Amino acid sequence: MKVYRYAVPCDGQWHDLELTGPIVKVDTRHEHAVEVWAIVRDAVGPTPRRFRVYGTGHDIPNTNQHVGSTVSVSGTFVWHLFEGCADDTNGDGDCGRIICPFCAPLGSKR
Ligand SMILES: [Zn+2]
Repeated sequence: MKVYRYAVPCDGQWHDLELTGPIVKVDTRHEHAVEVWAIVRDAVGPTPRRFRVYGTGHDIPNTNQHVGSTVSVSGTFVWHLFEGCADDTNGDGDCGRIICPFCAPLGSKR
């Protein structure tokens, strides 16, 4: 087991990461990127996960789940890292699975 660092640009786009373990820290040493540290388990296959950074006051879909927030190096921005469904390829909040922790949590529209 190790901890690896990943960077998610603050560009209003989704970014796919293949993680094998949980995220243990969200922070940044850059002005326009959020850094994520996650446990890497050697014997575990990667799970595709999708992340996006939002600025304070930006609209965020209800299907997104908050991962962490961090202040940019200059202190100008506070960035908020959210995770969405990696299978929701058209971005409509419905990946088609009967139960999805993002698109269709228990008790939702389905
Ligand atoms: Zn989904």
